[in-house]
Amino acid sequence: MNDTVLYIVIPCYNEESVLPVTAPLFKEQLLGMVNEGLISDKSRILFVNDGSCDKTWNIIEDLACSDEYFEGICLSRNRGHQNALIAGLEEAAPLCDISISIDCDGQDDIKAMTQMVKAYHDGSEIVYGVRNSRQTDTGFKRFTARTYYKLLSFMGADVVYDHADYRLVSSRVLKEFGNFKEVNVFLRGMFPLVGFRSSCVYYDRNERMAGKSHYPLTKMLALAFEGITSLSIKPIRFITGFGILIAILSFFMIIYTFIGYFAGNTVPGWASMSSIILFMSGVQLICLGIIGEYIGKIYLETKHRPRYIISERTFEKKED
Ligand code: UDP
Ligand code: MG
Repeated sequence: MNDTVLYIVIPCYNEESVLPVTAPLFKEQLLGMVNEGLISDKSRILFVNDGSCDKTWNIIEDLACSDEYFEGICLSRNRGHQNALIAGLEEAAPLCDISISIDCDGQDDIKAMTQMVKAYHDGSEIVYGVRNSRQTDTGFKRFTARTYYKLLSFMGADVVYDHADYRLVSSRVLKEFGNFKEVNVFLRGMFPLVGFRSSCVYYDRNERMAGKSHYPLTKMLALAFEGITSLSIKPIRFITGFGILIAILSFFMIIYTFIGYFAGNTVPGWASMSSIILFMSGVQLICLGIIGEYIGKIYLETKHRPRYIISERTFEKKED
């Protein structure tokens, strides 16, 4: 009998159609690992209801009532996937030795958990679930994802290629992670910063078992932008570099203008002048926008608002 307590943390937002399908699968996997002697019988599945407007919380409560392996916490409102995940991980941290975070839609191969736990027993404190193939994604999503990971690493952000938020994290890492207090979070870029020994487990990504994605293009772009600006200040450096380049170019332009003035042909050139002005004001506005984005982040961080508020639990919280 192994005494490693595992908590599987699953954020759920309006998932009434998929939860009844996947919950038994999670339990089956958990029991399988208990029987294999990989984890303790005290391991649990912890659902985080991220302010759903449908029956998700009722389903979680029913599961927790009828089965000791299921637990749930409910956030006071929708806070988004990343915050819901942090809520679950922080809740699980004092109760477990290891946690695995996974989406509730069954897209990520649940069975890969076995390998993750084995990797933990072999000495890894963080095990990243990495997608083998993206066959079920559209060509567009595949292309944008690839480009995005490349962009992130170009910007100096340390992310594991094709790893989403399916990962095993030991309680030791969770404890250190607790010292990362920022409000703007992008978890897949933050855990590599915590360090410790890590490894990867590869799996195939499937179709959603039911319901629909909560990540339309706009939300995906928002998360992508969040990822870059919360992990890197390189965009601001590019702006500075670009500014210097423009300044050098304009120096030559001024010389050219003076020569033109003394040569007496100052009237022609209106078209080129106005296009330069239009182009430059566009560039300046974009630069101001990027800098403003960072200032906005500083503003949000200085408020020190809580990342989430838990309104209900299906279990008694142990004060630690
Ligand atoms: N999710 C959440 N809060 C949100 C949006 C999504 O907790 O505001 C959860 C959702 O229930 C799912 C996971 O995050 O478990 C991933 O969402 P989804 O499957 O819709 O994203 P996709 O896999 O399409 O990128
Ligand atoms: Mg999904």
